[in-house]
Amino acid sequence: MLKIDDLHASVEDKAILRGINLEVKPGEVHAIMGPNGSGKSTLASVIAGKEEYEVTKGSIVFEGEDIDELAAEERAHKGVFLSFQYPVEIPGVSVTNFIKTAINETRKAKGLDDMPAKDMLKLIREKSELLEIDRKFLSRSLNEGFSGGEKKRNEIFQMAMLEPKLAILDETDSGLDIDALRIVANGVNKLKSKDNAVVVITHYQRLLDYIVPDFVHVLYNGRIVKSGGKELAHELEEKGYDWIKEEVNA
Ligand code: ADP
Ligand code: MG
Ligand code: MG
Repeated sequence: MLKIDDLHASVEDKAILRGINLEVKPGEVHAIMGPNGSGKSTLASVIAGKEEYEVTKGSIVFEGEDIDELAAEERAHKGVFLSFQYPVEIPGVSVTNFIKTAINETRKAKGLDDMPAKDMLKLIREKSELLEIDRKFLSRSLNEGFSGGEKKRNEIFQMAMLEPKLAILDETDSGLDIDALRIVANGVNKLKSKDNAVVVITHYQRLLDYIVPDFVHVLYNGRIVKSGGKELAHELEEKGYDWIKEEVNA
């Protein structure tokens, strides 16, 4: 599904990613961990196609297509979802109306008509029941001062509705409390299927007690310096990152 090969990327002429290799197959959950400033959010942004990041070398292939030259929006239309890519605050627009627009824009990009209202309602009902989101929340304005947990609920709802092939969740800077953590984890676990894939970026091992990854990668200094199974996350929890830095610098 996703194949990243020797990816180098810079921001403001500063090299951040220095040769990332990563392959994600359908049905897999990958966790990317690593100390602050190692390039985790940069990697997420580069995959999603945020403009301020420049790929200087290597390739990002999604479903057989080199997507490096595509705009973020086009990547989203192809099924790449990045958490917080969609706004959480728009005055006067409800959670539901925002997502309806996003879905119809995606359809338009594919040459399809708007989703019939009946189907849209059915989809909303289905997904909100799955995620245990109540009606009141769906009619709230995206400007109503969401709590951390509500922002997460909105984000997971957007993800559920858009049904991305590849979801990238960057949880590093969001100050997740235990409720928000459970919302994200339950959502991901319920939306996971053999056809989609999830990349969870976190420096909290805690999250990985709820979302069990198939692979854990440690990013350090712009490179993936270690990969393993879920046990690697526990090892990091116990020992921190110093031993990895020592291994790399040896
Ligand atoms: P992580 O998510 O692992 O904490 P980041 O990818 O956010 O790391 O940051 C990696 C490095 O890139 C840091 O030194 C950071 O200051 C720098 N960086 C990231 N984004 C930008 C940006 N938009 N402008 C300038 N520097 C940036
Ligand atoms: Mg980050
Ligand atoms: Mg580019």
